[in-house]
Amino acid sequence: QPVVLELEDLVMHYGPVRAVDGVTLQIRRGQVTALVGESGSGKSTVGRCIVRLVEPTGGAVRLDGTDVTHLSRSQMRTHRRDVSIVFQDPAGSLDPRMLVGDVIAEPLRLQAKRLSRQERSQRVTDGLRRVGLRPEVAKRYPHELSGGQRQRVSIARALMSEPTLLVADEPTSALDVSVQAAVLNLLADLQRDIGFACLFITHDLSAVEYLADDIAVMYLGQLVEQGTREEVFAHPRHPYTQALLAAAPVADPARQRARTPVLLGDDLPSAMDPPSGCRFHTRCPVAVARCAEEVPTLRKVGGSTVACHLVEDDGTGPDIRTAAQA
Ligand code: SF4
Ligand code: MG
Repeated sequence: QPVVLELEDLVMHYGPVRAVDGVTLQIRRGQVTALVGESGSGKSTVGRCIVRLVEPTGGAVRLDGTDVTHLSRSQMRTHRRDVSIVFQDPAGSLDPRMLVGDVIAEPLRLQAKRLSRQERSQRVTDGLRRVGLRPEVAKRYPHELSGGQRQRVSIARALMSEPTLLVADEPTSALDVSVQAAVLNLLADLQRDIGFACLFITHDLSAVEYLADDIAVMYLGQLVEQGTREEVFAHPRHPYTQALLAAAPVADPARQRARTPVLLGDDLPSAMDPPSGCRFHTRCPVAVARCAEEVPTLRKVGGSTVACHLVEDDGTGPDIRTAAQA
């Protein structure tokens, strides 16, 4: 698939906080790219830069080959139509004073063509139906709905402008566990049917296994590994990716037995003063002296892209499970 969104050396600093510090990433048309990593790794900031809720401090964001890093007001209007976002907490992202029907119809204002009242209400009904809600919901207020229903409304709103790319920032993690799977399934079905590209920001690796085509792993504002889902799950090469996968619950009992829990221990270091060399060296179970001195660069090895000194060109390298047992 051709590339629809490209980040080139993206940087987003908030004063001294280096939230995103040089991320290069490509999202392919109609594919789901999962962006994973601990909270505080800069995932949400990447999403916000793509939607252009914030203006990056450096690097470039390109959508369909067009530079959208810095936009005028009218260019922003087009961008809002092309890229939308679903936030973690639907309660915080829906205006409580607006009827659901008006919430959903809002993105229609961005369209070139003015819609009649009838067309508008038809589009709202279709939008609600698409996310499994009845047309009557249009006349309710967000607080009258359950968390799961509210997130369906957010999804309906996000898809109203028929975006090229949807950024879904932990779309189920604020919801009751009982409805998480249903909302995730809905997102997966819509993605498959409509075919928009999706940046799926999450720390839930079982969701990644279910939904993603590609995986990008972030650590302290930088990418440490990227590849197809199959490749990254079968051959996690970066020690941090290995630690994330080892800590994740796995549905398949055969794989369950094989996994050894390797805890990362210490908290994520501060993004104000990231460790020298490889930023992961303070927590890496296989770090060597070189790791604190030299910054590893992302390079192609085997079927993926990895930034680790100990990964060989043929893709072989450290296994933190054996290191933990030794
Ligand atoms: Fe660990 Fe060194 Fe590889 Fe960083 S470069 S992940 S510290 S082995
Ligand atoms: Mg976040």
